[in-house]
Amino acid sequence: MDIKSLNKEELKNELSSLGLPKFRSDQIYQWMHVKLVTSYDEMTNISKDLRAKLEAEYPLTTITMERVQESQIDGTKKFLFALPDGNLVESVFMRYKHGNSVCISSQVGCKMGCKFCASTLDGWERNLLPSEMLEQIYAITRITGERVSNVVVMGTGEPMDNYENLVKFYRMLTDENGLNISGRNVTVSTCGLVPMMKRLADEDLNLTLALSLHATTDEKRRTLMPIANTYSIEELMEACIYYFKQTGRRITFEYSLVGGVNDTKTDAEELVALAKRTHAHVNLIPVNPIKERDYVRSGGEAIAAFKNKLEKNGINVTIRREMGQDIDGACGQLRRRKLSEG
Ligand code: SAH
Repeated sequence: MDIKSLNKEELKNELSSLGLPKFRSDQIYQWMHVKLVTSYDEMTNISKDLRAKLEAEYPLTTITMERVQESQIDGTKKFLFALPDGNLVESVFMRYKHGNSVCISSQVGCKMGCKFCASTLDGWERNLLPSEMLEQIYAITRITGERVSNVVVMGTGEPMDNYENLVKFYRMLTDENGLNISGRNVTVSTCGLVPMMKRLADEDLNLTLALSLHATTDEKRRTLMPIANTYSIEELMEACIYYFKQTGRRITFEYSLVGGVNDTKTDAEELVALAKRTHAHVNLIPVNPIKERDYVRSGGEAIAAFKNKLEKNGINVTIRREMGQDIDGACGQLRRRKLSEG
């Protein structure tokens, strides 16, 4: 039983089997999800006896920091955390003018196989539990002493491949009895698992959905992303339109610019058409290098021309600010173990 993955109602039901009244379970929920304690001993308004009993029955899921690296360029911090079973995941803390943002991992490793991404190189190990996704944010809050206002599920893993745990995590994160982070400040990025995107559209959540598009034709997308063999761009666009219709929330297309691969004028024109059709914003990401692959980023001029083309056609477009590139903390650079371990 993973007590930190129980929502408030489930915790109340679980603890009532020990004969605990609701106010007790509310206190315990608050210790875990607001005060972010890592042990029962810190729950000072709970009797010693009860703390010992809880400790024996329900060990608290906590993650421990193995290493932190700080960017000399922008102060971004990349954390390597050990999960209770010894598996490792990375998370990134970024400071922006509008508040602090944490990028979390949703799986140990990834099975999606995108050609330009480091997270998939060692394959997939397992899904993260809701508690393990929450703990990445809780641990960073404890360590930095700063409030986190934005969460992006853009670290290692495909969140839609861990659907149930992701939705539970989102609900607990945005619960007023927990950290109470605004749903609008949570972004979930997917490589495009169409059935899950449609299911998410029906959940009545406030989150921002980002789709890793990266190419405008199936042929080209297949060379970059194996998932394109399963779902066509046409199916993806239909899912995006459905998402917009159901939620009223615009999707973001993430588009990594790879030099000589997807950065021509034709690519830009086709992207305009797709974004118009789906009312999507576009977020351009100059591709970040990973040492095992030889993809290069588009040149400055090609990036500017690409952006210009989109803007001229009325598409809302931003270029993602690179954060923590000197510590391999940028998009597509997170791994499930230390690089030095090979
Ligand atoms: N599995 C999810 C979550 C990963 S999010 C997804 O695919 O969306 C990380 C974002 O960074 C995705 O848009 C991903 O395609 C992109 N990305 C991966 N490797 C990258 C790289 N080397 N440079 C730039 N962006 C990259």
